[in-house]
Amino acid sequence: MRGLDTTGGRISGVFTEKGFIRTRAVVLAAGAWASMFLRRHGVDMPQSSVHSTIFATTPGPRVSEGPIYTPEVILTPLLDGGYLVAAKARGRLELTPAGIRYARQFLPSLRKNWKLVELRFGRSFFEGPDAWHGKWSFDQPTVFQRMRVLEAKPKASIVQPALDAIAAALPQLAELKPARLWAGWIDSTPDAVPVISPVATLPGLVVAAGFSGHGFGIGPGAGRLAADLATGAPPVVDPAAFALSRFHDGSKLRAPAGI
Ligand SMILES: Cc1cc2nc3c(=O)[nH]c(=O)nc-3n(C[C@H](O)[C@H](O)[C@H](O)COP(=O)(O)OP(=O)(O)OC[C@H]3O[C@@H](n4cnc5c(N)ncnc54)[C@H](O)[C@@H]3O)c2cc1C
Repeated sequence: MRGLDTTGGRISGVFTEKGFIRTRAVVLAAGAWASMFLRRHGVDMPQSSVHSTIFATTPGPRVSEGPIYTPEVILTPLLDGGYLVAAKARGRLELTPAGIRYARQFLPSLRKNWKLVELRFGRSFFEGPDAWHGKWSFDQPTVFQRMRVLEAKPKASIVQPALDAIAAALPQLAELKPARLWAGWIDSTPDAVPVISPVATLPGLVVAAGFSGHGFGIGPGAGRLAADLATGAPPVVDPAAFALSRFHDGSKLRAPAGI
């Protein structure tokens, strides 16, 4: 999707790579790109991406059927007998134009969690959803076409400290070895609560983004709520907590414990 068309102040269509689609209802589920897309249409949604690496281990003794939380890691048992390991204090936040723009909104979260992230200057200042893209034309290829996949290089140095922490907390798992490693950008909002909300200034537009690391888990419910809001059906849950307006109307937002 390149952009939105409006008539009389409400959504009347979308410009896509394959042409124009006339519609009165659009759900913007653009993940980390949502804020940038909205800004092009004069809508402000504070959002910033945090680099996160996780890894899977070789099979080991099954010490729990559910996730295990230690102060350093979260271990989730996998069907193949291994574990998925997320190191709690290894997120990377890069300095970006979006980060600067939304620094005030993210400050409480950063203050609370500053020990959990490392701040860096990196490529995301110049490319990707948190870079500066200004205005783009809807009849030309856009940044969304140039960057189909938001790549993230895994940070291998998180593995050994995480395995050491596991061995110290759960000696039965001291023999676990890394099997697969990957990374991604977690598209976060200042309160780590997604935006699943109509946009007051653009009737017909619903945003479902900013899942802040919880998008798989709550995907089915979030999709249902977004569909209800887009079609005018009674919402499956009270959407108030997910309103985009909470960032602008003086609502008191809770800084998340974790990033
Ligand atoms: C390392 C890591 C571990 C995670 N672990 C968990 C977990 O254990 N549990 C959990 O619940 N969640 C987890 N998450 C979070 C989860 O992956 C996300 O919350 C979820 O993928 C967000 O889904 P989404 O559909 O909002 O965004 P995405 O999955 O990013 O999808 C958005 C899509 O929109 C496309 N797009 C963007 N702009 C445009 C445009 N203009 N036109 C057309 N297409 C566009 C993008 O290319 C992308 O395909 C994890 C994330 C990471 C990075």
